[in-house]
Amino acid sequence: MTQPALQLVQGDRMLTVQRDWCKGCNLCIRSCPAGILSLDDGERIVGEGIARCSFCGVCAARCPDFVFTLARVPEAQMAMGGPQ
Ligand code: SF4
Ligand code: SF4
Repeated sequence: MTQPALQLVQGDRMLTVQRDWCKGCNLCIRSCPAGILSLDDGERIVGEGIARCSFCGVCAARCPDFVFTLARVPEAQMAMGGPQ
């Protein structure tokens, strides 16, 4: 089943997680300094306590399948209340 992408936004920073692309290799889970990543029953990445994410980018650097993308939220979007 297709999994929707997750988007975490804090201030002007945004982490997008393309769960569909996850192969369950565990690399990001072992590397996340906040310890907030794990696999669900379907062996796809999930984040718990995601408010502790520091947007360090380690997960994006480690994932061989480009699941994570860090970006700045454009000011125009923030003025409208964040990404839609
Ligand atoms: S950006 Fe850093 S703290 Fe946030 S999920 Fe990725 S590795 Fe963990
Ligand atoms: S590194 Fe990428 S493919 Fe591996 S478990 Fe993490 S999100 Fe999934």
